[in-house]
Amino acid sequence: MIFSNTSCNEANPMSGKIDSKMITNAEIDKKIVELMAKMTLEEKVGQMVQYSGFGELTGPGAKDNDFKINKIKAGLAGSMLNVTTAKQTREFQELAVNNSRLGIPMIFAYDVIHGYKTMMPIPLGETASWDMDVLEAGAAVAAKEAAAYGLHWTFAPMMDMMRDARWGRVMEGAGEDPYLNSKAAVARINGFQGDDLSANYTVAACAKHFAGYGFADAGREYNTTEITEHTLHNMVLPPFKAAAEAGVATFMNGFNDLNGIPVTASTYLQRDLLKEEWGFDGLIVSDWASIAELVGHGIAKDERQAAELAIKAGSDMDMEGYAYEDNLGALVEEGKIDEALIDDACRRILKLKFQLGLFDDPYKYCSEERQKNDVLSPENLAIARDAARKSIVLLKNEDNLLPIKNDVKTIAVIGPFANDKNSPLGNWRAKADPNSAVSLLEGIKNAVGENVKVTYAKGVNATTGRREFVFELNVNKTDFSGIEEAVAVAKNADIVLLAIGEDCFQSGEGRSQVDINLTAPQQALFDAIQKVNKNTAVILSNGRPMPIPALAENATAIVETWHLGSESGNAIADVLFGKYNPSGKLPMSFPRHGGQMPLYYNRKSTGRPDSRGGEVVFWSHYTDEKNTALYPFGYGLSYTTFEYRNLKLDKSSMEVGETLTVSVDVINNGSRDGHEVVQLYIRDLFGSVTRPVKELKGFEKVLLKAGETKTVTFKLTNAELGFYGQGAKYVVESGDFKIFVGGNSVDLMEADFELK
Ligand code: BGC
Repeated sequence: MIFSNTSCNEANPMSGKIDSKMITNAEIDKKIVELMAKMTLEEKVGQMVQYSGFGELTGPGAKDNDFKINKIKAGLAGSMLNVTTAKQTREFQELAVNNSRLGIPMIFAYDVIHGYKTMMPIPLGETASWDMDVLEAGAAVAAKEAAAYGLHWTFAPMMDMMRDARWGRVMEGAGEDPYLNSKAAVARINGFQGDDLSANYTVAACAKHFAGYGFADAGREYNTTEITEHTLHNMVLPPFKAAAEAGVATFMNGFNDLNGIPVTASTYLQRDLLKEEWGFDGLIVSDWASIAELVGHGIAKDERQAAELAIKAGSDMDMEGYAYEDNLGALVEEGKIDEALIDDACRRILKLKFQLGLFDDPYKYCSEERQKNDVLSPENLAIARDAARKSIVLLKNEDNLLPIKNDVKTIAVIGPFANDKNSPLGNWRAKADPNSAVSLLEGIKNAVGENVKVTYAKGVNATTGRREFVFELNVNKTDFSGIEEAVAVAKNADIVLLAIGEDCFQSGEGRSQVDINLTAPQQALFDAIQKVNKNTAVILSNGRPMPIPALAENATAIVETWHLGSESGNAIADVLFGKYNPSGKLPMSFPRHGGQMPLYYNRKSTGRPDSRGGEVVFWSHYTDEKNTALYPFGYGLSYTTFEYRNLKLDKSSMEVGETLTVSVDVINNGSRDGHEVVQLYIRDLFGSVTRPVKELKGFEKVLLKAGETKTVTFKLTNAELGFYGQGAKYVVESGDFKIFVGGNSVDLMEADFELK
């Protein structure tokens, strides 16, 4: 045995932290060399194998339990996913440690995407806070709870760039902008990993899916991706590069075929770019069976060839796929691959185990005591509530319907999601207890005094999806029968809160939709209620941008609440009653129509831009709908209003390599304190390649007291002004730029600037 087989030091939960600080990288390297000298080829390949646990599947197909147990006992599995309690991880760890020749501990991994028991908002929603401290704190809570359940490694954050709301996984990402996506990725990585991977409260993070998966053709899950070199480097890769630079421990490749090479077999992405050019020394795990699926892609004739392609390309670990364990040994013997490739992959995996402190104590995360005490604590729930209220985006608020006035006597809470305690937990909910979220109805009741009457009617059923592996969507498009009762309830209320939108299992992996509209019964419910009570605020919950032109036109107020997590109802009540002034901004454009997909603000001008619109038919547009978003990227209202003045550049021109300082005065000219997300965009007017009409290059969330003015300052350097040009080379080109500053991607002040 090469570790001291101690159990968790429960008296001093931070002891892992202290121990690990004592081991340097050089010492880890030395220990790995010593250990690998004892390992057989089969054992090294074994480290590259990751099995799913027995209770849960997040992908198709798996071998039986005995098969896996025997392999683990023989030291032929390096990691497991989907084993999710302190007790179970201990049991599996004991199988590996007590039975195998070298006693190498396994790493336990799980999809801890936006919380483990205490749920934060879904990542798309949480990104709407534009508050990186919120993202970091949320990830830190998730890490703490996951670690208390025996886990070492989360498959998050997902940083796939996305432009198509039909793709179900948009809920799991950070939206359509590479700059915001990069910041969000780094914040989440810092939250998961802290500053010490071996601390008892941190888990290794995983930058996924490398790369391009979010560009699935037509938004259809697992579909082919075609991304030009230009878009790949300027739009898709920046968050991954930022993640590598931030020290993310692991990467995951993906399911997608990118320009003819499935990314799991992409030597360019994994070896040349990530491991060589970016210097990433961590491990790359495949996506679920994505190595074996190279056969399905038709790029490998059998799993042996699939294994050969994947190992050569740089995939280090095979998630529940069996291609590596069955074939790598033979491939070495046949002389088809060099054993050095296996050594390198094994080294990367062992390195993570040392970094996690597993050789000091393989059971350090296996504490049932911690599992009881460290989850759903008041502190964690307070962080979830804060994250949830900061993620809410106020889309419309005519006649200042909101916040709810102090003199209301009756509040009607209506709609299929009004009394729903499950959907707010979101998809990818790890081990959240079903029906454990605070519903909107509960949140409102918690917030009001005895003198306010709260009434309720469901109105119509929503579409409901089941979480289970075999997915059934119960699409309710025809039952309008509850509307009459709901209308009667609405009539007698001073204000109506109408909770409509999407069930949480309509988005997430495997949940692409062609129709992303509100269902007909929900639309009819809104129409009927708005007719009898104009004081209706739509409380929209959804995992993707939805085309809601009829709501935008006719609703008095619209509050975008995503799937906000455990504290959903309380957080929405905080906003509705003005305890928290909404400050969220959209991380993804809301379309006018699903037919606009893919829709994104950082588009190209085209040779026939919309500035010529109206003159003739021959310009880039639709004949039946506007080009623009219904609610654009970066948009969101507050109960106060902000004014922008005095946009100043410290120089009107500068040499490449200098720094431009941009400042603007932001004034809260309303009567309430509020946060504003001040956004800076640039446009490079001419380039050696075409440039987007706008690109986010800075943002700052500031708190302004009523009447207060603050000067917000941004710096622009080569990092913001350059781009990947021809041949994917980073260039900073002289020429004219526009600098825009404002509260969303459309309403902006602008100034001119020249790079000499
Ligand atoms: C998903 C990954 C996930 C993995 C393990 C796959 O289907 O694409 O994102 O981490 O399953 O659950």
